[in-house]
Amino acid sequence: MTIGDEPAGEYDAVIIGAGFSGLYMLYRLRELGLRCLVYEAGSGVGGAWFWNRYPGARCDSESHFYCYSFSDELLQEWTWSQRFPEQREILSYLDFVADKFELRSDIQLDTRVTSSIYDDASRRWTVETDRGGTVATRYVISAVGGLSAANLPDIPGLDDFEGRWYHTGRWPHEGVDLGGQRVGVIGTGSTGTQLIPVVAEQAAHLTVFQRTPNFSMPARNRPLDPETVAGIKATYDEIWRRAKASPGGMPLPAPIQSFDEVDEAEARRRYEAAWEHGGVLVLQQFNDLMTNPESNEFAASFFREKIASTVHDPDVARRLMPTSYPIAAKRPVLDTNYYETFNRANVELVDVKATPISCITPHGLRVGEHEYELDILIFATGFDAVSGAFAAIDIRGREGARLVDKWSDGPTAYLGLAIAGFPNLFTINGPCNPALLTNVPVSIEHDVEWIAGCIEHLEREHIATIEPTEQAEQQWVQHVADAVDGTLFLEADSWWLGANIEGKPRRFMLYVGGHDDFRRRCTEVAEQGYEGFLTVR
Ligand code: NAP
Repeated sequence: MTIGDEPAGEYDAVIIGAGFSGLYMLYRLRELGLRCLVYEAGSGVGGAWFWNRYPGARCDSESHFYCYSFSDELLQEWTWSQRFPEQREILSYLDFVADKFELRSDIQLDTRVTSSIYDDASRRWTVETDRGGTVATRYVISAVGGLSAANLPDIPGLDDFEGRWYHTGRWPHEGVDLGGQRVGVIGTGSTGTQLIPVVAEQAAHLTVFQRTPNFSMPARNRPLDPETVAGIKATYDEIWRRAKASPGGMPLPAPIQSFDEVDEAEARRRYEAAWEHGGVLVLQQFNDLMTNPESNEFAASFFREKIASTVHDPDVARRLMPTSYPIAAKRPVLDTNYYETFNRANVELVDVKATPISCITPHGLRVGEHEYELDILIFATGFDAVSGAFAAIDIRGREGARLVDKWSDGPTAYLGLAIAGFPNLFTINGPCNPALLTNVPVSIEHDVEWIAGCIEHLEREHIATIEPTEQAEQQWVQHVADAVDGTLFLEADSWWLGANIEGKPRRFMLYVGGHDDFRRRCTEVAEQGYEGFLTVR
């Protein structure tokens, strides 16, 4: 679709977002013969990978399973170049998918959905956009992404800053020349940890403003040689079978032993071996990491020892060591040379927990009484996760009920896929879903296929609307809360808990029960005639 052809009229389905989720949803709904329209705010497809173009942006899942599994042809045609794919390569992949399956003709780019309102009488949704377009549709599928609403902290003085500033999630397409510049980075989560080593190499001076240190482990990225690629392509069936049967959506061995089952020397040997191997396996050593404080502290101490042995200045090393929360209670991070970067002469670490940022000045950032002069300020401050992108759209369900009101105590959804009171609205990777704790494309494929299966059922049975019952939704929400209750996940101020956004209700927004368990439950619900759902013919 080209700009200027403003869509109008009736559709069977409107999909909001053209990232991993939206592209595949379109593909599946077209197969059902539905007339579909995808709205995408960006000027290209790709979602998270379209927007997050900051230096060093890369995925923490290995490339050969951070992709779609649905098409054998696609799996054989596409070749990944590195163990952990760069943003650019993932975006090229999604562009390739959009072209291969001829998806673009149903995608309206540069168009942000502003409202989606259900009409009880006609059983249609009216979807409006910031370009003035209005369409009617029977189904709305949210593919907005759980990490798409950028969080720009409200630090006084930003408007007066005379340098340039950027949020990593809105990085300029033309890139930013950091050469010779004094750069400040706020934030040391997954994004900051990837960004900081690359910025340090380019900038004249880098000041890192750290509020909470993160636990990071080496990615040990490397190019994929032709033999490895051939091995992967020959065994894809097995790779996906294992990924879909695993808690994390990854074809990696899940831990089967608890920390108590081995002695400390053996535990250390396992951590050392995994550390050398690199990647997320480091935290896959024991099955009680998030339930046994002793197991968790052993892993945390191991990480702190690694920091101490890497960072030359003991005081800087100490400040980089997380001590205030259990390991993996915030999203753990993969890095390339993160801790080593703090040995560089042009890098300075400022602890803004001990002395908070007071304001942004015309020439930099003031922390307590000290002013740090900066030419460029980078916010690696994350996202208003899960609910943020929904809050940006005026969504109203039956009898005009607003989604923001329903979610005033935190976002909830039955299976993370549908919401009581909002007929024929589906949410890929919605709240109370495990997706953002897993290898996301595997979870996305599951959700898309479940939603497509549900819509196929509705079409075949001539059912006009479907929505969860309040009771089924509440039971699922309770199950999600029970699953996380008593675990160490609740002991950190993470975005999983909404704790990174001031005023956001503190509620664990994701399902920790695992992808495998979730998949099983969703299958059962469908097989039992969409148990927990209310349908109207
Ligand atoms: P994040 O994990 O929320 O980290 C934001 C950072 O900014 C934190 O260090 C936070 O400190 C800091 N911060 C926020 N407001 C601040 C303020 N007012 N003053 C000082 N510091 C402030 O965000 P993210 O790093 O963008 O990552 C978000 C998620 O995106 C990740 O957890 C991951 O799921 C995904 N992601 C994945 C990859 C990958 O696969 N490699 C890469 C990037 C992102 P506190 O901790 O004290 O709040």
